[in-house]
Amino acid sequence: LGDSADFDSETESVCPFCGVGCKVSLKVKDGKIRYVEGINGPANEGRLCVKGRFGFDYIHHPHRLTKPLIRREDAPEKGLNVDPDELSGHFREATWDEAMTLAAKGLMALRADDPRRVAGFGSAKCTNEEAYLFQKLIRQGFGHNNVDHCTRLCHASSVSALMENVGSGAVTATFNEIENADVAIVIGANPIENHPVAATYFKQFTKRGGKLIVMDPRGVGMRRYAEEMLQFRPGTDVSMLNAIMHVIVEEELYDSQYIHRWTENWDAEKEHLRDFTPEKMAPLCGIEAEQIRRVARMFAGAKAGMIFWGMGVSQHIHGTDNSRCLISLALMTGNVGKLGAGLHPLRGQNNVQGASDAGLVPMFLPDYQPVADDAVRRVFTEIWNSEDFSGEKGLTVTEIMDAVHDGMIRGMYILGENPAMSDPDVEHARDALAKLDLLIVQDIFLTETANYADIILPASALYEKNGTVSNTNRQVQRVRPAVPPPGQAREDWQITVDLARRIGLNWEYGDVSEVFAEMKKTMASLDNITWERLERESVTYPSLSPDDPGQAVVFGDGFPREGGKARFTPASIIPPDETPDADYPMILTTGRQLEHWHTGSMTRRSKVLDAVEPEASCSLHPKTLRRLGVAPGEPVALTTRRGSIRIMARADRAIAEDMVFVPFAYVEAAANVLTNPALDPYGKIPEFKFAAVRVEKVEDT
Ligand code: SF4
Repeated sequence: LGDSADFDSETESVCPFCGVGCKVSLKVKDGKIRYVEGINGPANEGRLCVKGRFGFDYIHHPHRLTKPLIRREDAPEKGLNVDPDELSGHFREATWDEAMTLAAKGLMALRADDPRRVAGFGSAKCTNEEAYLFQKLIRQGFGHNNVDHCTRLCHASSVSALMENVGSGAVTATFNEIENADVAIVIGANPIENHPVAATYFKQFTKRGGKLIVMDPRGVGMRRYAEEMLQFRPGTDVSMLNAIMHVIVEEELYDSQYIHRWTENWDAEKEHLRDFTPEKMAPLCGIEAEQIRRVARMFAGAKAGMIFWGMGVSQHIHGTDNSRCLISLALMTGNVGKLGAGLHPLRGQNNVQGASDAGLVPMFLPDYQPVADDAVRRVFTEIWNSEDFSGEKGLTVTEIMDAVHDGMIRGMYILGENPAMSDPDVEHARDALAKLDLLIVQDIFLTETANYADIILPASALYEKNGTVSNTNRQVQRVRPAVPPPGQAREDWQITVDLARRIGLNWEYGDVSEVFAEMKKTMASLDNITWERLERESVTYPSLSPDDPGQAVVFGDGFPREGGKARFTPASIIPPDETPDADYPMILTTGRQLEHWHTGSMTRRSKVLDAVEPEASCSLHPKTLRRLGVAPGEPVALTTRRGSIRIMARADRAIAEDMVFVPFAYVEAAANVLTNPALDPYGKIPEFKFAAVRVEKVEDT
């Protein structure tokens, strides 16, 4: 296997799963991808994890959508009741022309009533060009900014803190920079499962003597490589981080020169930290004061230190405050803008960085240019040859669902997102989807969201399309089709262009490279990055010249903020939205597993991955299982104020005794039935990482 002679063709592309963005070679025989090999990309240097290596066969699954579908007039009530093998009771096949005419007619009727009746969700699984076109369709076609995607559910709070204090939402250093660091913090992240190839670089860092500090309420796998593991109580991140910074101030371990030259608001930060003594904070956090002191000295003593974080930091109502603390910690120790130092929120989906850069968010146009800025909008309307659109920030993912319940939004175009599984308090989202007068879903499978659709448009998997994607490292890479889409399915950008024309927009794109060329006119981040260049190589933005491979580390000579300085924003303690009580005495946290990807629509249709993790399970400490009288493998009932699920229990010594972890990939035990929709006020991200829950034994029947 893997010998070129065995295959009809080999195509270079990028793994469709996580934000690491591993480069792959796709080997095709008899019209099917048979083998995937890691090749020498900037982020993976030939490495792949189990998802990238084995999780490709979903694209040939018999459930792929191959023809447009229209809901039957006599179909049963909308809901999760469509069997993918028995579609005909719910949907009828249609020609592209019929489905698109109906979709356009429906959208135009709603627009004629009030353009705000329509909202859109794009996707971080699609290309940069597709994300760009999708936001343009909503803004140009409907005149407002009610367009968003799943970044709202993962790192919106990190981006809001980075924009506020550093002036840019992307990482300040690639994860590969860890090879130049001597100390690194990984907090609220589980890279061995969620960013496995990045984790290999972290492990190598410790092998050559680098000191790793892991901070997480769960005993994540990375702890085995750590010099210090702080397993703090969920929701106490700000207390712990402020206590660490208190020690750095108290013992004068900070970098005065850096602070003076490159930051503002230091005096306020210093004053704010005065009361956060380790002795006061440690009992709240469930860790030792002496460990807080050791960690503070270790990080402040680093020649070069990096901070990596994941959704354990961002998915809280205080997610923005958590990130503000991490930014302050890096700034006070002078750990931004030099080799081996920096801030790195590990981005989740393969193109969540690129989709956000391309403007698929309600408050920013491409390159994070504010929609409220008249001059910025003028640039876009000139390039688009269109009328002005609203300067008001649009609604976010969960706000759009609320607006559907309120009756303000009555039609949605959803491309590649699955809110019927991914939204918090998911029954609320499902009820909203069922209420819509018009739901157009463009996807590769009959997802849980497509179950509620009026019109379903069959789209392409990443290995069937052309375009670019941008990974967590700011590396822009080409994706190329190894095989054509099945049946009548089309590339997503072509469907969006077709729909735009049918609702009267002046779009003329002959090739996806023309979309990229238009993006370059509006996005300075793409300067010196051309389509021709991307044919030959991946480029990290910013790239300073046509020959510059791009800047792995940024902000060594100032920050993109007024005055060129970064800012300290002090953060106070905000407790989680729910407190465990007698009815709901434990803490629920949710996330991903190594083998499954997000809502499971792709990986659960991949033979190898599904064989390894075929069944939904929750993780509980063995002592908790004994207390409940439950053996590993037996079912338990999990109940929160939103709902209840039944799920198999598995023993996990690394989880605290009062916590339960549930992965969110399984529709039959959907974690988001349980989660709390309370939002961080800045990033508008829900509190997926903390809900009060009751765990009970159930008799298996
Ligand atoms: Fe794909 Fe991420 Fe695994 Fe790389 S680490 S192969 S990008 S899932």
